[in-house]
Amino acid sequence: MTEIGALLKLRDVSTSFFIDQGEVKAVSDVSLAVRRGEMIGLVGESGCGKTTLGLSIMKLIDAPGRIIGGEIWLNGVDLMQKTEKEMRRIRWKDVALIPQSAMNALNPVFKIGQQIVESIRAHERVTTKAAWSRTKELLDMVGIKAERVRDYPHEFSGGMKQRVSIAMALACSPELLLSDESTTGLDVMTEAQVLGLINELQSSLRMAVILISHDLPLVLDISDSLAIIYAGKLVELAEAKGFAARPVHPYSQGLIHSIPRIHGEQETCESIPGSPPDLIHPPEGCKFHPRCAFAEPVCGEDEPELLEQADGRLAACHFAERFGGRGDVQS
Ligand code: SF4
Repeated sequence: MTEIGALLKLRDVSTSFFIDQGEVKAVSDVSLAVRRGEMIGLVGESGCGKTTLGLSIMKLIDAPGRIIGGEIWLNGVDLMQKTEKEMRRIRWKDVALIPQSAMNALNPVFKIGQQIVESIRAHERVTTKAAWSRTKELLDMVGIKAERVRDYPHEFSGGMKQRVSIAMALACSPELLLSDESTTGLDVMTEAQVLGLINELQSSLRMAVILISHDLPLVLDISDSLAIIYAGKLVELAEAKGFAARPVHPYSQGLIHSIPRIHGEQETCESIPGSPPDLIHPPEGCKFHPRCAFAEPVCGEDEPELLEQADGRLAACHFAERFGGRGDVQS
């Protein structure tokens, strides 16, 4: 969680959408550091700002949205100072995104190889022959036989199309890969295979990966660390190891308990009551207080800061120590 030597550094990044009803504060003051070779799970319910944060890192926020503040540093380069033309050279080459429903993003009228070759040639000065050769290597890397390079997307299953999308994202060997709910819609077996593949590639290529997901248990086992986001704000940043047994923030606790998957002794699931707040008129104080079983009067008045706890994690809760945070662990 330290910034020193980090590949990606976000400092107080805020992104809003300006619509007729008002300003939707989708991401507020997010600070985060991701090291080279680190896999970080960015987790929260739908509508909590995780996709907007991912798109902010890529500077892909379209009107009526805008990054309204903060700094985004990638490998020592200040992305906020880059023009759109300069960002087009940085995207895919330095930072790539596997978007939601990536498998449906493939163009049905072009062969998959052709689509990957075009991605490579759009960003690198290589001959067509070299681009085809690289495409075959990429397909091999994601477990697709090179002879399928001339097949059309409809000739592949959902999981195989997702592998093609991963190959496309890796086409220019990015240092940072963002995967935005990239396994949503796949069956459980294929989902596990695709995540396993991202995990393998991340280790072998020493990429930094941000795995954006609503499913905490799904990303828990393969992530090095977790960033839990609620109502556009980070509420907990912690190592993934041991997290399932000891989430500190009540929202993290809710995410762990609300997914019907068995972790350790947990065999039941309880959903978090209510839903994420309206980000035009978010609640005063702690944004989670209307849904929090542990809320006290102060929670509706003062917004808790994201503070370092004794074990090094960060949590934004007035009563973190009650849940094993500050003061509970000896450093
Ligand atoms: Fe719950 Fe209060 Fe902590 Fe917010 S600050 S998570 S409302 S206990």
